[in-house]
Amino acid sequence: MVEETFKYAATPEDAETATAAWHDIQTCREVYNHALTQEYRPRPDYDKPSYTEMQNKLTGTTGWKQRWPEWKNAYSKCLQMAIRRIKQSERVLESLQTRGYNVGQLKWKPPREYRSITYNQSGFDVDHNTDRTGHAIVNFSKIGDFHLNYHRPLPEDGDITQIILKKEKTGDWSVSIVVEYDPQYPEKPCVEEINPTDTVGIDLGITKFIHDSAGRSFGSLDEQRDRDRIERRHRNLSRKAYGSNSWEKARQKLAQAYDQLQNRREDYREKLADEYTTRYDAVFLEDLDVKAMTEDDGNSRNIASMSWRQTIQAFKRHGKKNGCYVIEVPPEGTTKRCSQCGCETEKPLWVREHSCPSCGFETDRDYNAALEIKRLGLEKLGVEATMQTVGQGMAESTPAETALPGDTEETSDEVSPKRVVETGSPCLKEPPKAASRQG
Ligand SMILES: [Zn+2]
Repeated sequence: MVEETFKYAATPEDAETATAAWHDIQTCREVYNHALTQEYRPRPDYDKPSYTEMQNKLTGTTGWKQRWPEWKNAYSKCLQMAIRRIKQSERVLESLQTRGYNVGQLKWKPPREYRSITYNQSGFDVDHNTDRTGHAIVNFSKIGDFHLNYHRPLPEDGDITQIILKKEKTGDWSVSIVVEYDPQYPEKPCVEEINPTDTVGIDLGITKFIHDSAGRSFGSLDEQRDRDRIERRHRNLSRKAYGSNSWEKARQKLAQAYDQLQNRREDYREKLADEYTTRYDAVFLEDLDVKAMTEDDGNSRNIASMSWRQTIQAFKRHGKKNGCYVIEVPPEGTTKRCSQCGCETEKPLWVREHSCPSCGFETDRDYNAALEIKRLGLEKLGVEATMQTVGQGMAESTPAETALPGDTEETSDEVSPKRVVETGSPCLKEPPKAASRQG
């Protein structure tokens, strides 16, 4: 059984429904703030109350709902979930802390930072058999109906465990449905039966997003237009009177611009991950937590490491779905070591060529790294491979010539992100020349 979240854009039935929803979200916020600041934080660390202890205080003759009767208007299980959210937030802080971030303590939340309500196990009804296609209705107890843009159907035999109704910072509503189901993914192939040519090593980089051991490369997404838009809308917002109607509109516009950029990045990652894990039996990548520390490149490193982490997650997810092994290998030395003979040479970041003093192997620096990643991956997975089967051997052609299938017009050595996003990237469907020569 897996648990998966399906998120949909949603529209409230009418203005009253929207008002009721926002009102109940704010009630949850009050409960959260009260539990956090009056019950939880004042107690010493060794004696923190459990969330059950706190949620028991909602009811009863001296309970919070008696003291603040308006809290009775919201669905009661949602108030319990608001208290449980303290524990969730705390776990998030802890995990940030263990990753070395400097985090403070949980704070009282203003309306802008508390935008969702969680229905757990009960209080909702999902109707996806409406007469319209791509349409479903969720009824939330005490709030009303929300219409979903039902672009992706829920798994048929799934159990809905939780639904989160959220007013995004853009002002739009969304509904996230958490479903537990048996996904019936395809089996991964037997390790003994894997042919090294059906596996691939991938080097994630800063200037080029992906370099693979078959000689392809994918550039980083061109974000200039998104960044310009964001900057423009920042400036626009700063010119409005704080809190005014036009300020609020400008703020939503800005949030939309950020969203757009997020979505484009996600789309790109997901498509690449899906295609690689569909095409190959095993995909090898570097362990990013370690890699982020070895690429000493200041700020761009932080940004890149975040996107690498999300990319790895996407590969793992799609790997499960597509029956493909996704294996992480230690990144130490992958750029220094020669993929053909194992000889190590120092290579500062600006040296883009790999030229082995020992065996004479000459190629692009990142291509050599991708081959080395593939070699390490095959070793870790337990697939027998020789130098010849790891890569394209001492390829006479450089990655620049093999980056694209021959039937495209593009002449650069790199597949443009635009093509991946817009066409769903047919670039992986045909093996590049070097790989086909091998097989
Ligand atoms: Zn060598």
